[in-house]
Order: sequence, then C-alpha cells, then structure tokens
Amino acid sequence: MRLEKLHALFLEHPIICTDTRKIVENCLFFALKGPNFNGNNFAKDALEKGAAYAIIDEKQEEAADNCLLVEDVLETLQKLSIFHRNYSSAKIISLTGSNGKTTTKELINEVLSKKYNTIATKGNLNNHIGVPLTLLSIKNDTEIAIVEMGANHKKEIAFLSNIAQPDFGYITNFGKAHLEGFGGVEGVIKGKSELYDYLISNEKYVFLNADDDIQRDKLGHYVKKFGFSKERPDYYNITFIEANPFVVIEVEDERIETQLIGKYNFSNCCAAILMGKYFNVAMDDIKSAIGSYQPQNNRSQIIDKNGFNIILDAYNANPSSMTVALENLQLMDAQEKTLILGDMFELGSDAEKEHQTIADLAKNLGFTNVLLIGENFCRANTSFKKFKSFDDLKEMLIKNPIKKCTLLIKGSRGMALERVLDFL
Ligand code: ATP
Ligand code: MG
Repeated sequence: MRLEKLHALFLEHPIICTDTRKIVENCLFFALKGPNFNGNNFAKDALEKGAAYAIIDEKQEEAADNCLLVEDVLETLQKLSIFHRNYSSAKIISLTGSNGKTTTKELINEVLSKKYNTIATKGNLNNHIGVPLTLLSIKNDTEIAIVEMGANHKKEIAFLSNIAQPDFGYITNFGKAHLEGFGGVEGVIKGKSELYDYLISNEKYVFLNADDDIQRDKLGHYVKKFGFSKERPDYYNITFIEANPFVVIEVEDERIETQLIGKYNFSNCCAAILMGKYFNVAMDDIKSAIGSYQPQNNRSQIIDKNGFNIILDAYNANPSSMTVALENLQLMDAQEKTLILGDMFELGSDAEKEHQTIADLAKNLGFTNVLLIGENFCRANTSFKKFKSFDDLKEMLIKNPIKKCTLLIKGSRGMALERVLDFL
C-alpha cells in the first residue's frame, strides 16, 4: 500500500493502537511483533473490537477487507510517522541523555503548553516504536512536539533522529547508564551525541547545559545554540539557590520554588526555563509551570507514610543517578536516614565494580543503615546488610520493621522496589 494512501486513512482514523486490550473505536491497529506476542494473531480480534483497519504483515486465511497487508508492520509504522512528521507544521524538540529525560520532557511540556498547543511523549514511550507513536499523536493544530528519545546502544539515537527530524535538541547529560550496550562511558557520549550530529549536520538548533564540559566542548563553536549556565556570563544565567530538600531557583530576579528534590533536578528545570525563554513564554507562566510540577511514577517522589519520610526513587537506577541520589540524601536535614538500594542493571562487565563503588560511597558518606538488594549488590564487599531477592528483604521487613526515618528507595526498574511501601 502506498504511504500517501495509508496516511490519508490515518487522517481519517488518527488513533493508533498496537494492543488489543486497549482498542479504541475506529483506530488503526498495527499488528506489531514483540518478544511474547505476534500482533498478526490479534488482527481479527482488533477489528471485532472496533478498529477501522488492521495493518498486518502475515497473510491471513480469511482476511477481512479492512486487513491491510504490508511487508513489515514496524517499518510501515515508522515510515508513516516520518510522512506525518513532514506533513505537519509542528516544530519538533527532541531530547535524549542518560538521566532525567522524562522529567525534563514533562517540565518542558508544562512550560511550553502555557503558550502553545503542544504534544509530548506519553510516559516513557521513547524507543523505535514510542517515537513513531509520539509523532503520530501530532494534531493539525499542534505547534510544538516534545519527543523523548531513549537508547541503550549506539546508532539508536541516529536512527530515532532520522525519524523525528528534530528542529531543536537537548541532551540532559552523559552518565553511566546502559554501559553494557554502549560499551562504556565513551560509548554513551558518542551514542547520545548522535542527536547533536543530526542537528549540526542539518543546521538545526541546539539547547545546551553550558555547565557541562562535554556539551560545551562539543558545541562551543556551533552558532545555532542557546545555553544556560549558573556560572558562565556568556550564557543565559540561572542561579541554583538550594535543594533542601526542594530545588529553589533564581532567574531574572524571580525565585522559583519547585516541588522537585535533589540538586540533579536543577538542570532539568533549567532546560525547561531556557526553552520557555527561547519560545517567549512569559516569566510568570514559566514560574508557575515549573513551580507546580510534581514528579510522577516513582521518580524522586516524596511520600509520607506511617511516620516515614520516603524518597521514592524506584523508577530506575544507574551509577550516575544512584550517586547523585546518595549525595542528595546526605545533604538532607534528617536525624535518622535509611537506604534501601536495589541492583542496577545493564552494566555488563562493569557491574561488579559499579555496585562496589556505590556500597563504598554509601559508607564514605557516613550512612550506617543501608540495605542492599539483589545479586549484584550481594557480590559487593561491604558490612551493610545484603539480601539476594526482594522476598528476602520482605521477610526481614515483616519480622524486624525498620524504625521511622527518612528513607531513600532506589533501584533499577526490574527490581520494582516501590513494593517496599507495602511493608512499612
Ligand atoms: P529512562 O532512561 O528510564 O527513560 P529518564 O532519562 O527518562 O529515564 P527520568 O525518568 O526523568 O529519567 O528520571 C529517572 C530518575 O533519574 C529520577 O528519579 C532521578 O533519580 C534520576 N535523575 C533525574 N534527573 C537527573 C539528572 N539530571 N541527573 C542525574 N540523575 C537524574
Ligand atoms: Mg524516560
């Protein structure tokens, strides 16, 4: 089927579904293949549930007229999203980086939606399927689309950049995340910088954190850029006041009191302020957008429960975000502090070293109540209590409840440490 024709169908049926449990009346169902499911087997079901058309890539015996056979469903979805991106007049802002993409994306969206019709990546849909779905959520009246791009290996950001074709880009930071797939920190820098490579070679615009040496080195001579800095006078000045525990910022003599904890959230806010400034959002609106944003989904959330002051940071973890989370906890005013730290995944041959480093850091920062969960942490040489699995920890929490305290809970997504809350 020609792409123009499929796009015309999409304009008539502008909702895409890929999961028959979430079919929306009149949608286009794309029969993607995943590790556990083959969407082709669900096409009939999708149509019965109200999908207008099903896009499939395996011939079916009794295919209905509204089953559209293509060579490859995923490729068709990606191509359709490129076609739609080029059809739309929305400006695209892409962001990537090791940590803070989703938080920054949401902050940018809060700020820019004060003045513009925006769309943004839903949740964390930031991969080779999520980016196309985000682009396909651009409406006729969308003025700015904010597209999160994630990667765990090289060439992925280049691939996603060629799909989204951003007009603007921002990299949150380069950290120790997905070291396995990127082959070390140098690999991370190269991989994430594929966004810069795209922007520079297409003469597009770059937003940058000018306090980050790597970003400054890479973009110092590039003309089409706008950066923020807390110390460099040649960039847009944003001052960090404190993070005790909530980040307070000063910009253009305005004080912004955020609901975000941790100094690490400062640069996330700065990126959103910078873009607000670039796109002429009024400072009052920038201030209220940033000030009212509350983190979601276990991302550095503050929760009070049964006398515990909990920093629930169980969304994900890697050596960089773990380090800043520990440093942040150390700076917090609290009498009793406890840490429940879970394994960090996707570190490949660096796993042992990085878990040891975190255990050592916790000790050097003076923490004494530290519970380490997971097989990686169990290999660390440390006097802290170690638990092979969540169930072992659970048993301990039930038998010996921990004392009321300020409690940091952080680990990789696979550890799902938010479950700790059920046992406090
Ligand atoms: P993912 O790779 O899963 O998409 P992400 O880059 O979108 O992650 P967020 O979901 O915004 O990141 O944040 C996840 C966690 O990363 C936060 O809860 C916090 O612990 C940490 N984090 C957020 N921003 C930063 C930052 N600028 N520097 C270091 N760590 C950060
Ligand atoms: Mg994310």
